[in-house]
Amino acid sequence: MTMQEDGRERLRRPMIGKREQQSDPGAADEDTPYLIQASNLVVEYERARDKTAPLVALQDFSLDVRPGEFVTIVGPSGCGKSTFLNVVAGLQVPTAGEVLIEGKPVTGPGPERAMVFQDYGLLPWRTVIKNVLFGLEMQGRVDSQAHERVRHYIQLVGLSGFEHAYPRELSGGMRQRVGLARALAIEPRILLMDEPFAAVDLITRELMQDELARIIANTGKTVIFVTHSVDEAIILGDRLVVVSARPGHVKKVVPVGLPRPRSERGLRSSLEYSSMREQVWEELVTEVRPGSGRMD
Ligand code: ADP
Repeated sequence: MTMQEDGRERLRRPMIGKREQQSDPGAADEDTPYLIQASNLVVEYERARDKTAPLVALQDFSLDVRPGEFVTIVGPSGCGKSTFLNVVAGLQVPTAGEVLIEGKPVTGPGPERAMVFQDYGLLPWRTVIKNVLFGLEMQGRVDSQAHERVRHYIQLVGLSGFEHAYPRELSGGMRQRVGLARALAIEPRILLMDEPFAAVDLITRELMQDELARIIANTGKTVIFVTHSVDEAIILGDRLVVVSARPGHVKKVVPVGLPRPRSERGLRSSLEYSSMREQVWEELVTEVRPGSGRMD
């Protein structure tokens, strides 16, 4: 079989081989076609000091996500989690492999995908309302309904009354809500979230997790959420993906069947939660050894 034939075969039958092991029989309706299909991704970066040997961030990274699924990703620091999100966002071109969204290859950013970053990415000279409007401006979509839409999402993330505040006047949690409102305002089908709550304090983090779960339940978005917190990954995810040490590939997929709404406080006494947490930790600990990266 030639390489081209092999590639076509793979596209026609997206659930064969490695991905069959990763698919989750307990998750969303199995007959629903995948919204996101990442197949055999390889990402190599040039090293600043040694141009001859590239740094391989991802190797054979495959993951399929159904519409409306909330997939959380944990893995050692430096294993390629952000790189994977960037590839799905269309911000990073993979060295090999591909990402399909509704069967179409990703060739760059698109309006059906939005990123939420850890450092908020807000423009300090713009008010809340103007920061939220920014995403729509970038896509040339500031029409007569844009302001109404922006106000709607500001309200949804609980920032009504702060429309004219500047980022410096807001707490970390409030800034993250602005980042979330900006992503939601472009009404993407897919939210890509890169450790969005890593910089906020613990109490705010728990509140934001509750709110995010509520917002996602209300809006039906498909989410890929990178975190270094196993607890956060279990609380938010329909499926939890454990990524190996670099070069990152999907090591294990854990279906999270716990009833919603979930909260860390409520789950602490749950045996199912404790054993899932233990299972994920075991997977991670074996990845964290000298030279293979580390957990944060
Ligand atoms: P994670 O999000 O899991 O911490 P990243 O995807 O940020 O990991 O990075 C994976 C590896 O790729 C790391 O070793 C990192 O230093 C390297 N890396 C990331 N971006 C670049 C880049 N633009 N150029 C070179 N190396 C990079």
